[in-house]
Amino acid sequence: MRPDELIVPTPAGLFCPPGGFYIDPTRPVERALITHAHSDHARPGHAAVAATGETLDLMWLRYGEDFAGTAQAVSYGERIGVDGTRVTFCPAGHVLGSAQILLEAGGLRLVVTGDYKTERDPTCAPFERLACDVLITEATFALPVFRHGKAPREIEKLLRSLTLFPERTHLIGVYALGKAQRVIAVLREVGYDLPIYLHGALEATTRYYATRGLDGGPIAAVREVPRTALAGAIVLCPPAALHDVWARRFGEPVKSLASGWMRLRARARQRGVELPLVISDHADWEELTATVAASGAGEIWVTHGREDALVHWSVTHGLSARALNVAGYGEEDEDAP
Ligand SMILES: [Zn+2]
Ligand SMILES: [Zn+2]
Repeated sequence: MRPDELIVPTPAGLFCPPGGFYIDPTRPVERALITHAHSDHARPGHAAVAATGETLDLMWLRYGEDFAGTAQAVSYGERIGVDGTRVTFCPAGHVLGSAQILLEAGGLRLVVTGDYKTERDPTCAPFERLACDVLITEATFALPVFRHGKAPREIEKLLRSLTLFPERTHLIGVYALGKAQRVIAVLREVGYDLPIYLHGALEATTRYYATRGLDGGPIAAVREVPRTALAGAIVLCPPAALHDVWARRFGEPVKSLASGWMRLRARARQRGVELPLVISDHADWEELTATVAASGAGEIWVTHGREDALVHWSVTHGLSARALNVAGYGEEDEDAP
């Protein structure tokens, strides 16, 4: 079987003709495999969905119980047959429940990474390196300028700032699914044991992580405590809330944002971020190129971000590569809902 018989880019997303399913379709379809629960990948309204149990739970949490006609929970490593195509979900290290999808048919092994990182993250299963013939990789941060920090070292910057400005609330913009819980977990790992306060939009996912054994220690909702309790405290909120009226209650907070984009000083300045934390749930340039090399794939398809640079890198390393240009995925590391 040729690779382009196994996966076809379509306006609704990647389609597998022999299996009759889409991967992370951007519009409602009959059969969908979902890599992870971020809203641009996991949309409601498909007739049949297969994903990890955590991804299904998180979709249920966001969209309600009618998020799909039928839902099939698949464990990591479990191989399921979908009309002659064998499908395996493997850990992607991106957020809780995130998966790469390995397709095997007609002697061909093809991996769709979905969003991923290889950097350590205490809140999800580590990325699994998979050997394959064709690798379809994301490219959110596919430029050599992107080098993410080690999360604990970035969090130390936050603790230093708290010592310097003990009266100011430290307001940290974090994506609601994944980043918030990772920042909490790393804060605990480096020994921060005071309560961490949450914007209402982060409560449901954080509670869900706790039910999966990822209890972040003392956590409280901002709305439940008097303002005076928040002086010198760490408050997590969605990135967009850093600049809305909600943030005014904190007086003169230290505004921070935990994102791979914070590598770009101009971006931090333009977003009014005083304390940039370069923490990302996506692979940086090093991780992307290392993953391409380690896969052993001769053919690299690049999607979802800065395709050109990674295509170019792959070609100069003797691989055949192309950009897929599938539309509909956001730069979720920054401000998507
Ligand atoms: Zn994602
Ligand atoms: Zn994504």
